[in-house]
Amino acid sequence: MLEKNLEKYFKFPEFRAGQKEIIESIMNGEDVVALMPTGGGKSLCYQLPAILSEKITIVISPLIALMKDQVDSLAARGIAATFINSSLDAQEIGRRLADLRAGKIKILYIAPERFASGEFRSAFSDLDIALFAVDEAHCVSQWGHDFRPDYLAIGQYIKTLKKRPSVAAFTATATPEVKDDIIARLDLREPKVFIRGFDRPNIRFFAQCDLKPTQRLEEVVRIVKSLKNAGSGIVYAISRKDTEAIAQYLKKNGITARAYHAGMKAGEREAIQDDFMENRFKVIVATVAFGMGVDKADIRFVIHAGMPGSLEGYYQEAGRAGRDGELAYCVLLHSKRDVTTHKYFIRLDKQNMLAQGKGWQETNQVLDIKYDRLEGILNYATAKSCRRRIILEYFQDPDLESHQENCKGCDVCLNWKNTELKKTARGAARAIRGKDGLSDTILATVDFYRQDYAPEQIAKIRSLGVSTVFNHLVLWYLAGGELAIEKFVTAEEERQILRALPAAGSAHFLSAIKAQLPEAISYEQIRLVIAKRQKTKMEKVC
Ligand code: ADP
Ligand code: ZN
Repeated sequence: MLEKNLEKYFKFPEFRAGQKEIIESIMNGEDVVALMPTGGGKSLCYQLPAILSEKITIVISPLIALMKDQVDSLAARGIAATFINSSLDAQEIGRRLADLRAGKIKILYIAPERFASGEFRSAFSDLDIALFAVDEAHCVSQWGHDFRPDYLAIGQYIKTLKKRPSVAAFTATATPEVKDDIIARLDLREPKVFIRGFDRPNIRFFAQCDLKPTQRLEEVVRIVKSLKNAGSGIVYAISRKDTEAIAQYLKKNGITARAYHAGMKAGEREAIQDDFMENRFKVIVATVAFGMGVDKADIRFVIHAGMPGSLEGYYQEAGRAGRDGELAYCVLLHSKRDVTTHKYFIRLDKQNMLAQGKGWQETNQVLDIKYDRLEGILNYATAKSCRRRIILEYFQDPDLESHQENCKGCDVCLNWKNTELKKTARGAARAIRGKDGLSDTILATVDFYRQDYAPEQIAKIRSLGVSTVFNHLVLWYLAGGELAIEKFVTAEEERQILRALPAAGSAHFLSAIKAQLPEAISYEQIRLVIAKRQKTKMEKVC
């Protein structure tokens, strides 16, 4: 029954581990805490019950930039959803609230700071709400790495509702203490707790410690070059200055890169995000400000050229790689000066806390936690044992027992020496391809295409760049799939492109081909025509 609806609304053939149990629990009206790794498919766990319920579902998320994407993706599936956050003016908010009251909206996304306004709170008090879904629920805990005071208001607000809805909390990073804190602060009632293993089997974890700053820069370049055919990725740096310097250095070495940090103008950041989404350059070099609001499932690598202050933070940032389930790489490049930087931040926190009038005891308690966290990540960076196991132990993964052996996916288990990243990359890429060379992610794209979704819609729904969707379709086409090229390229465009192609069929320099053609002809169209020519040739040979 649930499977039928999964197919109907999401076009997915089956649930991922844990999803069905969580959905059943929510539909039974129970409170839920779900700990699931990034990419595990948390959104679906509240979206499907929301669709199937007569009543309204409210989703609380701190990621304002993501709300629009989520709502668009639901709209593409024909589901009435909207969002309310600080990007809208009062009039627009009023309009959306009116739609909500008129029963035109099933799912409403809101940012937690909204609850600070009494007016806003009262606007909801008479609505019939089925479910409150709290995303990134670790933000409610002071012991979490990303505490947001606004989250505290959620629990208080729910208490004021005349009819209490069920409450479901979701997070990808929670130690047992944080989990208990979520239950207490959101005042969950006998919640069902679902903990899915934290492992991300498609991610390879690498770390190097004690690099000198220049060595680290060289390593970043070397690693990115070794992943030359692997799609685009993120390099994280601690300071804004570092992001600029690293981006410069990558460019000097022939790699397309852009810096991204909170000091840039909003418009500029948005343009960079869009280009990154579409794989128009290879590397985004960013501070941690980047990533929270980016829903790109095909990020192929995350390199940290600066160690984060905790393993929670690291795993969340690194976890942005490979959400499509395809092979991805996470590399932590540690240098001694990172530790000095973090210790300096912690001392600054201490001064701030004391200046705010916090007592010594509370201040010391918080500082102790921060020092412990720093030790946790340092242990990970410098260890000589399986890195995946260290992560799973740290999060007290329920499946830890099954991870006793060689994980075959970290530098220690692979006995990786500097030059071997490339070799592993190739071997592993082969291993995850299916019999006909098409991976699950490609086939999922094809499924949507066959149901007449446009590539732009598929990209939205699957959080992929449009160019990635076309890549999937081309690979499928070359493997024998029936792609209606003429839908995307007119006969005249095809003639123009064919004229611009080098005769020998070496199609390596797409940019050179594109430069000869009118601006309106896209890379995707050129790729399609090349694929068509390739396929015709293959057929002739056969
Ligand atoms: P999370 O919030 O846990 O990081 P998302 O909810 O964004 O993950 O889901 C990650 C990706 O997995 C999305 O592209 C989503 O459409 C896809 N997904 C979710 N559930 C399923 C499923 N049952 N089958 C196939 N793909 C799924
Ligand atoms: Zn390992």
